Amino acid sequence: MFSHPDRAAFLPLAKLPSLVAELMARGYRCLGPAKENGAIVMRELESPEGLQRGLQAEQAPGRYRLTSDPHDRYFAWANGPQAIKPQTFAPQESLWRAERDEAGGLRFVPELPAVVKRAVIGVRACDLAALAVQDAHFLRTGRRDAQYAQRREALFLVAVQCAEPAATCFCASTGDGPTPAFGYDLSLAELKDGFVVVSGSDEGQAVAAALDLPAASAQQIEAAQRQGEAAAAAQTRSLPGRKLRDVLMSRLEHPRWDAVAARCLACGNCTAVCPTCFCHAEADVPALDGRTSDHLRTWDSCFGEAHGHLHGFNVRPDIRTRYRQWLTHKLATWHDQFGRSGCVGCGRCIAWCPVGIDLTEEVAALVEVGPP
Ligand code: SF4
Ligand code: SF4
Repeated sequence: MFSHPDRAAFLPLAKLPSLVAELMARGYRCLGPAKENGAIVMRELESPEGLQRGLQAEQAPGRYRLTSDPHDRYFAWANGPQAIKPQTFAPQESLWRAERDEAGGLRFVPELPAVVKRAVIGVRACDLAALAVQDAHFLRTGRRDAQYAQRREALFLVAVQCAEPAATCFCASTGDGPTPAFGYDLSLAELKDGFVVVSGSDEGQAVAAALDLPAASAQQIEAAQRQGEAAAAAQTRSLPGRKLRDVLMSRLEHPRWDAVAARCLACGNCTAVCPTCFCHAEADVPALDGRTSDHLRTWDSCFGEAHGHLHGFNVRPDIRTRYRQWLTHKLATWHDQFGRSGCVGCGRCIAWCPVGIDLTEEVAALVEVGPP
């Protein structure tokens, strides 16, 4: 459903650079889609005219290939390997540093990222849902993560409705897309001659007001609504329910775990691209002169051998137990922690798995066939 149609304005195609210019004038570094190493990633725009058109990608299990949109739209691509995650939860950063003073004493200095206002243009509904999950983890009461919070507060999110989901997308079945419903500052639905624009925050409203846009017509709002419905209907993958906790936890000894383990390389790609995964490792990295030591946090994966190593033994010694941990945490025990599944249906883990393991297929086999 296209939310807040009463607040919808219309941004003509030619005026899109003025939105970027307004954000830049307000001090935001603007990130937009760019081609890099054969994929669409978010990169800083050098000028208001820097948003690229016509990008698209074909996705399938174990496959991601850049293509071109025959209609030369701005946002016809579905998603790339990155979501918002790297903008808030850095792949690697120092959390604090230990310094030795002249007398040999130690002092501990917290390290915070520089405050940089960033506007991400082209955020998807699934990315917003994933960000809400990451917020629940990193900003939880009493355990607020200072680094995450600082980056999160400086974000401005320009969401876009997905008009053409990838073959790997299944956000309609998780209830997270393809039309952004919450969590954005501005949301755009791209039509032939422009964008239906809805603001979702005071800052978003101020930016939209500065552009002095006309109200969207009833026909434009209806076209955006229809486009979202068509995108949902076009998705061919799905999960067999939004709460699979009990059924999956009753399948812990299912032979399907052996079958998937025989294919899985335990490379961790699926966790790196997943917008909700938040596991990390921490390590102290001392300087060679012994005067300082950085306490580094680095993205980690439950597929790594060290991740299951606890107090002298490994609780997940093989790929079977690691894949099972990933899937049952994501789709089952996540409900106990966060009140929802940890999957937002973005399909990234399907496209970026080098052997094409498809979690919707694995879940179907586990849930529908049941125990032998
Ligand atoms: S499921 Fe695929 S992406 Fe994930 S660890 Fe296994 S081989 Fe790598
Ligand atoms: S589990 Fe896969 S489909 Fe679900 S949110 Fe993570 S990457 Fe996306």
